Amino acid sequence: MTELQQNLLNLDRQGLEAFFARLGEKSFRASQLMKWVYHQGVLEFGHMTNLSLALRETLMQSTTLDLPKIALERKSRDGTCKWLLRLDDGNSIETVYIPENDRGTLCISSQVGCTLDCSFCATAREGFNRNLTTAEIIGQVLLANQQLRSTSQDRPVTNVVFMGMGEPLLNLTHTLPAFSILVDDLGYGLSKRRVTVSTAGIVPAIDRLKESADVALAVSLHASNDKLRDELVPVNKKYPIAELIQACHRFVQADRKKHITFEYVMLNDINDRPEDARRLIKLLAGLPSKVNLIPFNPFPGSGYICSPVERIAQFQLMLAKGGLLTTTRKTRGEDIEAACGQLAGDIKDRSRRHILFQDLRYGEQVSL
Ligand code: SAH
Repeated sequence: MTELQQNLLNLDRQGLEAFFARLGEKSFRASQLMKWVYHQGVLEFGHMTNLSLALRETLMQSTTLDLPKIALERKSRDGTCKWLLRLDDGNSIETVYIPENDRGTLCISSQVGCTLDCSFCATAREGFNRNLTTAEIIGQVLLANQQLRSTSQDRPVTNVVFMGMGEPLLNLTHTLPAFSILVDDLGYGLSKRRVTVSTAGIVPAIDRLKESADVALAVSLHASNDKLRDELVPVNKKYPIAELIQACHRFVQADRKKHITFEYVMLNDINDRPEDARRLIKLLAGLPSKVNLIPFNPFPGSGYICSPVERIAQFQLMLAKGGLLTTTRKTRGEDIEAACGQLAGDIKDRSRRHILFQDLRYGEQVSL
């Protein structure tokens, strides 16, 4: 790809319409192109027979539909599949496909590494290099579907969760168009319940998400008091629990059908005691929500132990008795380091974590 060639996978419907308008083409060209790419999986302009020959020629010369390259595929005993994807600049990211009886969930990355430094997450150890482009984000879904179609009887992707590497709400410039392509009928046409964005709690970005996209929200809470959350999820020092919960109330207020999923990683003797459960019940009272307990997935040098199964069951029972709808996430793909918090990719320059919050565009550059 030359500097001048634009990757059209970076553009959602609105962006493509503007692009074709600049070429002097009608806006329905956007819908034709999207159908080829997202409905048919066709990425070669030469095969897009309802575009005029002249237009196909122009697109071939000045644009691309480039995907990341699969560097490695690993398949778990339980059917979970992890791909290491190489990007143009030599960085690599990871994407995980999790087949279930009634769905196929793809867990995708939004950044090369992460800036947030959560103490129990393997991605944090890798540092941060850069935000992914929209093409690299949506490219993960295109690639997964290509692979699933060609290699197995697995169903294509029916659900997408932004729970891979990175903080999707610190890359809204590129994640918003990706959300749009996922829910657009001309894109993947996924219902908004099937696209879940997981955040460590970037308060202004939660408000912006509410205005700009219609997707489900998951919040990585992990602690019910600020002292512990400051330690586990350091971005809590910037956006403490009370502010985060208020933002969650604002998020669901806009739509009475909405609820928020709170993720809570179970760390032995750290956040799994009865008083933690009691505080959590108080904190979430009156907020349409669901709690998803995540057994901690260990990685070398993490320094944490997962709560024993009985402790997790007790914790779940306490929350349920306190009126909170609670589930425990089944760990998948741990034999191939594909489970939550185990994604690491391959990051070229790890020294860029200081570039925090660069994408928020609120006129502030914040360091933790
Ligand atoms: N930055 C986003 C999305 C990435 S992490 C966020 O924080 O939500 C996706 C989920 O996996 C988060 O809830 C995260 O806290 C959890 N997670 C991270 N490390 C984990 C580990 N070692 N074991 C279990 N869950 C983990």
